[in-house]
Amino acid sequence: MLSLGIDIGGTKIASGLVDAAGAVHEARSHLVEGPAETAFHQVLDLARSHLASYPIQHIGVVLPGGVDPKTRVVASAPHLGWTDMPLAQRLGAELNRGVHVENDANAAAWAEHRFGAGRGGDSTALITIGTGIGGGLVVDNRLLVGRHGLGGQLGHIPRVTGGHPCACGADGCWEQYASGSALRAEARRRNWRPGPITGEEVLSAAVHGDPAAVRLIEWVSGHLAHGLTTIAAFLDPGEVVLGGGLGSDKRFVEYVRAALDAFHPSPSRGPVTVVGAELGIHSGVIGAADLAATVGGSAPR
Ligand SMILES: [Zn+2]
Repeated sequence: MLSLGIDIGGTKIASGLVDAAGAVHEARSHLVEGPAETAFHQVLDLARSHLASYPIQHIGVVLPGGVDPKTRVVASAPHLGWTDMPLAQRLGAELNRGVHVENDANAAAWAEHRFGAGRGGDSTALITIGTGIGGGLVVDNRLLVGRHGLGGQLGHIPRVTGGHPCACGADGCWEQYASGSALRAEARRRNWRPGPITGEEVLSAAVHGDPAAVRLIEWVSGHLAHGLTTIAAFLDPGEVVLGGGLGSDKRFVEYVRAALDAFHPSPSRGPVTVVGAELGIHSGVIGAADLAATVGGSAPR
């Protein structure tokens, strides 16, 4: 039994048929041709083309945006120009199938929980470290979505009172101290090097012994480790799964482990341990398809 997963990203739409073991078949990738109705019809045509080759029962679609947990309406997906878009209902009516719609970060967390680095456990915290901090939480085998579908948006955990302003409107959020962008901003504040800087450059310089770069990586790892310890305190997930460009870099993970060692571990829970995400670019497609198969399309959970 295969389910269809569709992952609408910023520039590409990925899709594939996913089996009960989480393996992807007929993987496809297309550039997003346009916002609004253009994107909707592109997703619809893509689903129809998969349906023509295999009798799919369940369809899941994930996207970077907020999804109302009760109505499953896409509350806001700015890059697609969708506001209050009844995507699951419209696709379901056209395709005569149940369609499940979810936020892409939540779907990635679900995929890692079921088939990736979190498999076999009851709870999984996925923290993706890139431009910001993304990810999601699976608690006792349920995806945590909260009242507004914004549960598990961990980048906006308060980290520093009165700290750096965040795009969300608050000050001092975790992602202003522990993301790739935070690392670049701090490197500029410290005049580490003239010109544009990437987090990868700072990390490579640190690994090669540049003392200022080491201090920068220890700064960002320390803030990351503090937040991971906070998450472990309320979730007790066993391991925390790290993903994203910086988070999946083994050299960076070693710095994070060293920073975590600086915290005195809870005697009952033990030290916080981190592992790398395993599913990479397919996590959205896998999570979309498996959530659809698990919750059965647009029916309420
Ligand atoms: Zn914020």
